[in-house]
Amino acid sequence: MEQVLLLNITYEPLKVINWKRAITLLLLEKVEVLEEYGKEIHSVSFTLRLPSVIRLLRMVKRPKTPIKFSRQNIYARDRYRCQYCGKRFSVEEFTYDHVIPRSRGGKTRWENIVTCCMACNRRKGGRTPAEAGMKLIRRPSRPRWLPALKITIGYREVPSSWREYLYWNVELLE
Ligand SMILES: [Zn+2]
Repeated sequence: MEQVLLLNITYEPLKVINWKRAITLLLLEKVEVLEEYGKEIHSVSFTLRLPSVIRLLRMVKRPKTPIKFSRQNIYARDRYRCQYCGKRFSVEEFTYDHVIPRSRGGKTRWENIVTCCMACNRRKGGRTPAEAGMKLIRRPSRPRWLPALKITIGYREVPSSWREYLYWNVELLE
């Protein structure tokens, strides 16, 4: 049955819930509907379009668990795409790249590390993106949470109506 993406009032994805829970929240006036599926739900007292993305009307505080700086989490933040050519690869075909090379004082941290395919990694070598004539598809930053889809379901199963909400925290360079 359809799943519903629940967002905080800040539009931050909180979790994926089932549609019955979503309807309950809606009837309690705790959420607003941002996106709907095509389907309708009928009951004795109401007819509703099945919600796809809902947003809480009051702030929910999340426990502050820092996201571990690890290879897996860098890939997850970058959504398993090479940050230079934009292509998707399997995990074994990825490496990570220091945007400012270590030889130039580039640090090993969220803001200077991106997911990179082997070919782009070789091409870039020990140069900066500008020197190599390569462009990052987005500026790397420290993630504040892991995208909800990584916790619950695979990328391919994510309804298209969710996508812009799952990635709103990612700053695009253009
Ligand atoms: Zn690449």
